[in-house]
Amino acid sequence: MVDLQKQYQQIKETVDNSIQDVLNTSSYINGPLVKEFQKDLEAYLNVKHVIPCANGTDALQIAMMGLGLEQGDEVITVDFTFAATVEVIALLKLTPVLVDVDKETFNIDINALKKAITPKTKAIVPVHLFGQVANMDAILEIAKEHNLFVIEDNAQAIGANYTFKNGSQQKAGTIGDVGTTSFFPSKNLGCYGDGGAIFTNNDELAHTIRGIVNHGMYERYYHDVVGVNSRLDSIQAGVLKAKLPHLDSYCNARRNAARFYNKALANHSAIVTPTAQSNKTANCGQICDVCDCHVFHQYTLQITNGQRDALHKHLLSKEIPNAIYYPVALHAQKAYKDDRYNEADFPVTNELIKTVISLPMHTELEEDQLQFITNTILDFLN
Ligand SMILES: *Cc1c(COP(=O)(O)O)cnc(C)c1O
Repeated sequence: MVDLQKQYQQIKETVDNSIQDVLNTSSYINGPLVKEFQKDLEAYLNVKHVIPCANGTDALQIAMMGLGLEQGDEVITVDFTFAATVEVIALLKLTPVLVDVDKETFNIDINALKKAITPKTKAIVPVHLFGQVANMDAILEIAKEHNLFVIEDNAQAIGANYTFKNGSQQKAGTIGDVGTTSFFPSKNLGCYGDGGAIFTNNDELAHTIRGIVNHGMYERYYHDVVGVNSRLDSIQAGVLKAKLPHLDSYCNARRNAARFYNKALANHSAIVTPTAQSNKTANCGQICDVCDCHVFHQYTLQITNGQRDALHKHLLSKEIPNAIYYPVALHAQKAYKDDRYNEADFPVTNELIKTVISLPMHTELEEDQLQFITNTILDFLN
């Protein structure tokens, strides 16, 4: 699905030098590169605070701890996402409230979100799934009306821009009260191990979170709150610092591959290609670099003639990597089943788990590879 080796070869010298630097100075934990990467990412995202941590799951958990959410508080998120999002809600003994997604964007369904709000609701966690920013105009409006926190799970959309109704733009992950991301190797900005970060423009929240990631310490050996140990190590920070200047060109390369796929697969009656229209008011329906609201962490088709599983196997037999993200709705997972949920409330997710298939998507895809992949799909489905 990804070609990390080829990408590494392009930036080998910078990455090798920065890793060597860490080895030479032995500053493995909280070395200068961590701070440098933090500053670089703050400038790139135009956000006041980036707090690096150990992975994207920790980032979500720490964000919720920082906001002071308490047992019994209801947190609304989507039924169609990676489990980490709901996992941390449950771990903190908050009450997850799963809602359906939008058929075209796979992001949170605004009507379902509105319906799910109760007096116990404290936060909304939109997930910018597959690299496309959720409808933040609507989410912010609802959050304001009901006095809710917005925690953006931006693990899949770092680098994406959101265009508001009024035309202004903001980077994904910096729009809500707090945003989180993952630097897992296959993410759009990936390190060579685990890593994550939390973003916020709120000084007080940033201060609280900086203590939480470090055992609840604000002064050495004085523990004011119950915290965790969650750090980005210096070697990973060095890799990320070397890769950050390339993030925009990485996102463009992904969009180019998506454009090729969309064009090649546009006219087949059993295929629904993805659109980039998270802000439906700026709805060009195109994959453009102007609003760049979609950074294609995944390129995900819907196969509507019942042949999705057969196509999955066929592509594997031709050595074309592909994956089903995600094969089970979260409300149906053993760990998250609950009598509160009603099948009738999840028509879109229940359909998507049967139709979606994600194709190879990375920064090194070449035209002959894309041609081979799309030809193989069209030959099979015809
Ligand atoms: C990858 C991912 C996470 C978790 O990130 P890790 O670094 O693997 O912990 C959380 N949410 C979403 C949507 C993800 O894709």
